[in-house]
Amino acid sequence: MPVLTIDGPSGSGKGTISRLVARRLEWHYLDSGALYRAIGVAAGWGDIDLGDPAALVRCTFDTRIDFREHDGDLRVLVNGTDATDELRTETAGAAASAIAAIPEVRAALKDRQRAFRRLPGLVADGRDMGTVIFPDAAHKVFLTASAEERAERRYKQLNDKGVSVTFAGLLREILARDARDASRAVAPLRPAEDAVTIDTTGVAIDEVVTRVLGLMAP
Ligand code: C5P
Repeated sequence: MPVLTIDGPSGSGKGTISRLVARRLEWHYLDSGALYRAIGVAAGWGDIDLGDPAALVRCTFDTRIDFREHDGDLRVLVNGTDATDELRTETAGAAASAIAAIPEVRAALKDRQRAFRRLPGLVADGRDMGTVIFPDAAHKVFLTASAEERAERRYKQLNDKGVSVTFAGLLREILARDARDASRAVAPLRPAEDAVTIDTTGVAIDEVVTRVLGLMAP
């Protein structure tokens, strides 16, 4: 069953590009970051200390996460409650990044992620899709962009939603999250050896989609 993995740091355009490519191919789509974010949000709801790995592992096993298509939008239900908007906050991102450093949490989510592999194919978006979850994927892409451009994109995204943030604050948070994701002992963020890296700085979304689809052409 064909898989296209799209990995990269936060704000590299992974989410947008992956969704568009999945739509064009009419393949399934896995937003693996949403799984880590969902555990982060569930931990917050349960008042679980982010410094308590055992409790976070229990929380991972206990949390039900469902994806629903609603009016062309992908909604994420955490234990039956629509948490899509809460999931997108930088607080949820930071919690996800802390939780994602726990090896038992990553192991517990492995099979859940692999279950998304269904016909006619899967576009898997994350940090370790090409290296750990789908190492045998036929197509692997690693997206990058400068930290400033990634902070700028996040700033626009959040501003459009009426969330009050500063560019400097976002840039600081993105750099801190990148450093943690790249330096952690388990599944550190890095391109798979057989991935094609695309730098999206200053490149229009359509152009990146065309390049990704072009890589897949026989
Ligand atoms: O991609 P997104 O920003 O939603 O991911 C949130 C956090 O979840 C990342 O900063 C990263 O620490 C973690 N993550 C991960 N492995 C993945 C997807 C996300 O470690 N496959």
